[in-house]
Amino acid sequence: MSEKIYVGVDVGGTAIKVGICNQEGELLQTYEGPTETAKGTDVILQNIAQYAKNIVEESSYNWEQVEGVGVGIAGFLDIPRGYVKFAPNLKIRDVNLKDYLEDTLQVKVLVNNDANVAALGEAWAGAGKGIDNCVCYTLGTGVGGGIIIGGKIVEGFAGMAGELGHIAIVPDLEAIQCGCGKMGCLETVSSATGIIRMAKDAVERGDRTTLSLVENIMAKDVIDAAKAGDEVAARIVNRAAYYLGRSMAVMAVVLNPECFIIGGGVSKAGDFLFDQIREVFEKYTQNEAKDGVKIVAATLGNNAGVVGAAGLILRA
Ligand SMILES: [Zn+2]
Repeated sequence: MSEKIYVGVDVGGTAIKVGICNQEGELLQTYEGPTETAKGTDVILQNIAQYAKNIVEESSYNWEQVEGVGVGIAGFLDIPRGYVKFAPNLKIRDVNLKDYLEDTLQVKVLVNNDANVAALGEAWAGAGKGIDNCVCYTLGTGVGGGIIIGGKIVEGFAGMAGELGHIAIVPDLEAIQCGCGKMGCLETVSSATGIIRMAKDAVERGDRTTLSLVENIMAKDVIDAAKAGDEVAARIVNRAAYYLGRSMAVMAVVLNPECFIIGGGVSKAGDFLFDQIREVFEKYTQNEAKDGVKIVAATLGNNAGVVGAAGLILRA
């Protein structure tokens, strides 16, 4: 068997997920093991290498077929060097992950941040399959982002391109402080955290809403209430959609992507949310920059990370 394969590693705070992809981005095999974050940097690095070895050894493929290993990791990176400056959820600082893995595995290794890698996964083999230019949003605890132009990740000068959650878009009078320290970032209103905060504020203000009966409000509660006709909840979801749409209108004239892909927990709201985003996008985007542009849901779910990590090797 001489088929080329690509190994992807998605390093999370609790689990490390590894996958084998073929040239088309099909996920052929997966393997998952604990990160063991509490045991410290050396153990985490050994686990990454070990799980990559395990998946190849347990498969019907061999190391001669492996074109390389791609790694997606959340944190501040020096991407070209594969150097992890700081990964807060793993408590890793100042480690050259690329060098360590290349020494240990004796194959080419590329490292990139988790949001970029997930975007590449969707662009390569998910909702953006066959599309070279797309912008991806992940609506979760924060708003993650990744930009793919000409089939490749846009990294920028300091690896900070595609940080869509930190587009400062909420006007000062309405802005609150973001986790990054700045005011009015997109993720303060369009993430699950932002939606929950706006709902709790409304309840505390005494607004008439069914959400006042919910004990521990989750983003899904707000979306469900909005779908059921609760006006306060509907305003909150609309605000989240509004700023997403406005940010896309900006991206459209800056990059003119063919497709916006939206993933993450909040995206499960489906067309109820997407239709509102599309309406705002329609209204604010210059005509030629919006013609034929699609806004679609991500399709790979939790596999976007491993698939995209494998794709790093092919799309480098
Ligand atoms: Zn921010």
